[in-house]
Amino acid sequence: MTRNLNYNWINGKQIQTEKTLSVVNPASGKTIGEVPSVDGSTVQKAIDSAANAFESWSNYTAETRQSFLEKWAVNLLNKQEELAAIMSEEQGKPYNEAFGEIGVCAKFIRWFAEEGKRIYGEIIPPSSENQRISVIKQPVGICGLITPWNFPGAMVARKVAPALAAGCTVIVKPSSETPRIAIAIFEELIATGIDKGVANIVTGSSSLISDKLFSDKRVKKMSFTGSTEIGKTLMSEASKQIKRISLELGGNAPAIVLPDADLDNAADAIVDNKFENSGQMCNGINVILVHRDIKSEMTKKIISRVNKLKVAPGNESDAQVGPLINQQAIEKVEKLVAESQKNGATIQTGGHKADIAGSKLFYQPTVITDVTPNMSIAQEEIFGPVAPIITFESTKEAIEIANASPYGLAAYFFSNNINTVYQISEQLEFGMIGVNGTQLSVPQAPFGGIKESGMGREGSHFGLDGFLELKYISLSLLK
Ligand code: NAP
Repeated sequence: MTRNLNYNWINGKQIQTEKTLSVVNPASGKTIGEVPSVDGSTVQKAIDSAANAFESWSNYTAETRQSFLEKWAVNLLNKQEELAAIMSEEQGKPYNEAFGEIGVCAKFIRWFAEEGKRIYGEIIPPSSENQRISVIKQPVGICGLITPWNFPGAMVARKVAPALAAGCTVIVKPSSETPRIAIAIFEELIATGIDKGVANIVTGSSSLISDKLFSDKRVKKMSFTGSTEIGKTLMSEASKQIKRISLELGGNAPAIVLPDADLDNAADAIVDNKFENSGQMCNGINVILVHRDIKSEMTKKIISRVNKLKVAPGNESDAQVGPLINQQAIEKVEKLVAESQKNGATIQTGGHKADIAGSKLFYQPTVITDVTPNMSIAQEEIFGPVAPIITFESTKEAIEIANASPYGLAAYFFSNNINTVYQISEQLEFGMIGVNGTQLSVPQAPFGGIKESGMGREGSHFGLDGFLELKYISLSLLK
């Protein structure tokens, strides 16, 4: 890859540091480049610059802010191929998926650019003749945004765009696994000519950067996407200042297939979702719950589709399943599969690493049957290309199994009965429900979970609200 991307952006300027972090291509194990590993004083500078920029940025009209966001989206689309290649090389996902993700970034940015013009308040009828009640929405202030590696572009866009559209200024801290694509996407924002200090990005030690952001009183809001474990720690950090925080955390999505479902549609949708990004998706299906009467037919349909998936480095044109992100990820998958086998599950296909020259991080797409809800593979987020199948006897039992999880991000089910569709959707304890399909992330819909999958929403006007405070103004008219 030709671009260096070995800098951060603070106050409109490129910053380099002596200490750096190496970034590795998971498909080859080779180092791609270095990015800064900032110290506390550099984070401080980023906060200072966001603070200095806040007054003017928050006072701009929504249309002015929109014009920068629109340019950002256009810049990303103009460089879609180059950015997709950077993402695929660093994160491992197939180039086509990465190309699609850059398109998703532009969609989110454009949607929020528009929606910024609809930050309406309210006029409320008063209780006395001389009172006037109005409610306005104002930007929450400086925001710290921490993003994960699995959707390293979309997660940056899904946070930065609503924050800027709302009138906030930002400091982004991307995952150390995928900082280069975040920097490259950011560069296109800086290239719009946006005022210096409005948007800043820092890379390096997550705990150091996060401590600085949480402890500085000028940072009014933290938005985090990542694991539930870290989310819990950050929630307790936020409590020290009652700092606003939104959390998009882990999931354990069930896909329930009822006997009246269109089984081919269900198999297509389940395999598409389960193996996207090598199974490293927060709203990715973790367990497939299949009714006893259709177990054999459904399992066959899933296996035949899984066996056709092409495992290959992301830059091969027909790649469908790339490497996992790192050694820890592949060890977790191996451990969960081995434990399930030891406890009586049957591997129908896969069940081992894939033999791809030069890398130890590819795992063969796998289907496992005879899985029971108490197995760790059904309870933990697998985050790999492994599809465990659990059989159930009644819809009630399927819902109980699904709801027993501490997570509550996304659930899917397949049925052709309109009554069932509503009844099950209402009973499942998840923030998002996919019925007869698995496509959930669109800019206009609220993405997010309940229970230990987090709080707050991204996308939609609810997502914009996450960067706004309400202010109630009571005016007493003078007689
Ligand atoms: P992670 O380990 O929690 O890391 C996420 C981000 O937090 C990274 O930027 C990481 O930085 C940073 N981080 C790590 N330790 C930290 C600490 N002590 N203090 C502050 N920040 C810290 O999660 P991940 O492995 O990158 O991402 C996968 C997880 O994200 C999965 O559980 C997935 O389900 C979840 N996810 C959820 C959504 C959603 O919308 N709900 C979307 C995507 C992913 P470093 O890399 O520098 O350590």
